[in-house]
Amino acid sequence: MTTIGHFVDGKRVSGASARRGEVFDPATGRRTGEVELASAADVADAVQAAARAARAWRDASLAKRTAVLFAFRELVNARRHRLAEVITAEHGKVLADAAGEVQRGLEVVEYACGIPSALRGGFSENVSTEVDSYSLRQPLGVVAVISPFNFPVMVPLWFIPVAVACGNAVVLKPSEKDPSAALLLAEWFAEAGLPDGVLNVVNGDKEAVDALLDHPDVKAVSFVGSTPIARYVYQRGTAAGKRVQALGGAKNHMVVLPDADLDLAADAAVNAGFGSAGERCMAISALVVVEPVADALVGRIAERMAGLRTGDGRRGCDMGPLVTAAHAAKVRSYVEAGVAAGAVPVVDGRDVEPDGDAAGFWLGPTLFDHVTPEMSIYTDEIFGPVLSVLRVGSYGEAVELVNASPYGNGTAIFTNDGGAARRYQHEVEVGMVGINVPIPVPMAYYSFGGWKSSLFGDLHAHGEDGVRFFTRGKVVTSRWLDPRHGGVNLGFPTQI
Ligand code: NAD
Repeated sequence: MTTIGHFVDGKRVSGASARRGEVFDPATGRRTGEVELASAADVADAVQAAARAARAWRDASLAKRTAVLFAFRELVNARRHRLAEVITAEHGKVLADAAGEVQRGLEVVEYACGIPSALRGGFSENVSTEVDSYSLRQPLGVVAVISPFNFPVMVPLWFIPVAVACGNAVVLKPSEKDPSAALLLAEWFAEAGLPDGVLNVVNGDKEAVDALLDHPDVKAVSFVGSTPIARYVYQRGTAAGKRVQALGGAKNHMVVLPDADLDLAADAAVNAGFGSAGERCMAISALVVVEPVADALVGRIAERMAGLRTGDGRRGCDMGPLVTAAHAAKVRSYVEAGVAAGAVPVVDGRDVEPDGDAAGFWLGPTLFDHVTPEMSIYTDEIFGPVLSVLRVGSYGEAVELVNASPYGNGTAIFTNDGGAARRYQHEVEVGMVGINVPIPVPMAYYSFGGWKSSLFGDLHAHGEDGVRFFTRGKVVTSRWLDPRHGGVNLGFPTQI
């Protein structure tokens, strides 16, 4: 069994803390490693290394920074399958999905390769007589990234490339459930030429998170995880004077209008509901169907579900296990609650026969029909392969339902009516909207983020928002001495 430590100042290290967490292969149920859980002192070592490195890295030229990013991009691209295997071994998602996650992360690296354009400031000549003004964006110093279990590569890469390209040093605290991929990323960044200390990885749990939130040298925190922890991180981090973006949980609705192509909608519902075993913050978990097409749509979805193969992600299955035994038990308890509340289990995932070790953390895809808004399978983020169908009578009822949700991460509408789609994109209170696209994750050059309880803070991840988050603006007003001189004037400067 391997012990998974930290990566500080350019090398793998073991911390002083004796606390350990367990890491499992979810498809076999076997414990494959133990992860060090950092103490506040371990975190302080990493922050100190980052602070030291940040002083020099802020002065590294844009050419040097982008050279590192281009080299890193090539390394990850060449080793994407190895990275996918590491993800699958600790997370459980099928290999193809893990490779997809690597691809989406790489797109942010590619965006960050273009940082010279994104960091260009403005220049105004002669704002006053012989006075010029121009704007700069400068790095913050040390920034922390705290990531969830469900995207051990993509979510860290939403932030690290942009933070580093902007001239910051980073301390990453990955999920303790699947910590190994983050260490590989750090090693490969070092191999690509990133100076020691610019990217550090500290493994751990709440103790490490709190230490990052309280450390005076950490200037900003990018967090992704569940809503209660996102709210906590935002409150504690901002109270300590830090800039914080905290992306939280979700309950994503897909609205199907009666004129939609029902085959397209059924494919989309299955892909978005059960991909990655529903452990995606953009997964569709509530299908809001405007009558009279619910019977037809549910039938088509059930047909497709009959062909899904649940099993070990290394065996070419469609859907893997859940991440831990505890999470599988929790999701199963929601299925039980749904049945008890009177929802109709059209497909019951508890009956699944997985293509994998019996000790794996299995639950098959589950479809509930006739779900109503007060049931816990609808109100709570389940984060598993459970899709709920809610039947409504009109477009208006559908929008009202979606907007009443406390979450606002992603949503989709399926229709052939351009006017209805346009109205939905205008009216819906959600940060990312898909039109006949079930998982509308923005490309890296746009920004990723939800509304309401799905994001605490002002700026979203990557794209322009990412650059703004990881930099501070400065405006310089300059006058170079001219033989003519304005003389003493105590009045407030105005444009002359
Ligand atoms: P989580 O909130 O349990 O953990 C996220 C991070 O917080 C981890 O690094 C964890 O170690 C740390 N943490 C856990 N408990 C803590 C505590 N009490 N105090 C301080 N830190 C703590 O989330 P998870 O289970 O790893 O990930 C799944 C959740 O993340 C889901 O709710 C999902 O919707 C959400 N998510 C959201 C997005 C998004 O973009 N909005 C993306 C991915 C995942």
